[in-house]
Amino acid sequence: MSTIAELRRQFIAGERTPLEVFDEALAIIKEKNADINAFLEVYEDARSEAEVATKRYQTEKENTPPLLGIPLAIKNNILIKGRKATAASKILENYTATYDSTVIARLKMAGAIFVGATNMDEFAMGGSTENSAFGVTKNPLDTKRVPGGSSGGSAAAVAMGVVPAAMGTDTGGSIRQPASFCGLVGFKPTYGAVSRFGLIAMGSSLDQAGPLTNTVADAELLHGVISGVDSHDATTITEDTYVSRPLKETYTFGIPRKFLADGIDPDVLETFNAHVDSLKAQGHTIVDIDLPIFEKGLAAYYIVMPAEVSSNLARFDGMRYGLSVEGDTLLDVYQKTRAQGFGKEVKRRILLGTYVLSSGYYDAYYGKAELVRTKMRAELTETFKQVDFIVIPTAPTPAFKIGEQEDPLAMYRQDIFTVPVNLTGVPTLAFPMGTVTREGVSLPVGVQYIAPHGEDARLFSIGKKVYDERP
Ligand code: GLN
Repeated sequence: MSTIAELRRQFIAGERTPLEVFDEALAIIKEKNADINAFLEVYEDARSEAEVATKRYQTEKENTPPLLGIPLAIKNNILIKGRKATAASKILENYTATYDSTVIARLKMAGAIFVGATNMDEFAMGGSTENSAFGVTKNPLDTKRVPGGSSGGSAAAVAMGVVPAAMGTDTGGSIRQPASFCGLVGFKPTYGAVSRFGLIAMGSSLDQAGPLTNTVADAELLHGVISGVDSHDATTITEDTYVSRPLKETYTFGIPRKFLADGIDPDVLETFNAHVDSLKAQGHTIVDIDLPIFEKGLAAYYIVMPAEVSSNLARFDGMRYGLSVEGDTLLDVYQKTRAQGFGKEVKRRILLGTYVLSSGYYDAYYGKAELVRTKMRAELTETFKQVDFIVIPTAPTPAFKIGEQEDPLAMYRQDIFTVPVNLTGVPTLAFPMGTVTREGVSLPVGVQYIAPHGEDARLFSIGKKVYDERP
């Protein structure tokens, strides 16, 4: 599968049609999805939209909406009216969305066609897609390994070649880490750049929707379509809310060396060092920085996130949505529904969140974590006076094997490099920086460029230069 930009060019030139591309996508799904399990549902009926798009290109050519006929895969926590939105949970197994999320409404306006719903960790909690109630997704690059998570199905759908791009959500790395494990570009926008209306909430102060693509240019294109103020989400912002510094030819990159020493795979570190050398060779300036508080993000995240999870998931009570298990009393219904409907990891986080929010512990845990968050933001503000971007690896390891990370704490440690940016709300672009070899298989590893609030455009600009235009 080519890029969005290339497909669009071919559609306009009449070299290929949306219908052909849609049928190819379905053929790949039929051939591979039984094994990979990237898709929870395939929207075969969307073929009629591909027919309409094909006709429109014949007469309207470039005077068509920018994504007309482009097939996309959508993480199953993003609401599409009339389609099932399960968040890969038994509790929402039979829940059908009654409205379009803003992200979907905007993609529809731009002409995109949705080929199917992708698998994920239940309610986006996890980093391997092993927490799905509907089976693990395999990494198409090495089927013994996980595709990352929680947007693992979306990453696999692109890596399998079904679609040129897919939508994911990122609360603590769920777009960037699967991008790293599957060799893709992943973008976590400035908090508030993209409306959360119609996303099944995990941590409301952390969640953002964003694209998984093959090029930075495609990520920029999709972000341009889905972002912007939305009256349905009071936390959305306009780009000019922030003073964004102008684009430059060369930039200053800060490397938090001490942070990197923390449990990183030596091969990943070597690849990272080579990437930094290539930046120097391209004329950029590299400086060492210290981020003593930012580094502590993981500890703060695993307090703030479960606190928000426990509140957000209180709505799944057997009365309002999805599964309802009969009981003798109302309390009995709540208990039975939640006991049967939620998986192990979701329950663990609800318990943790309820604990840190309970009176007596609130000040000791939740209050402290929010304080740390404030200090992290202040530290970043100071740091960005010296540097344009912070650069760190996306994940400490390449894709691990299915079943390898049994201990939940070991799994949480995987998130060390991704969660600090969600806590501070800044934008981050992730893309492949090289490969490492495991058991004779070459596996991709990713790098992240972190920018100040609102400097999403600067990230796309540097990302296109460094990644899309690589020799
Ligand atoms: N892996 C992280 C977690 O388990 C991030 C999840 C996410 O971004 N949705 O919480």
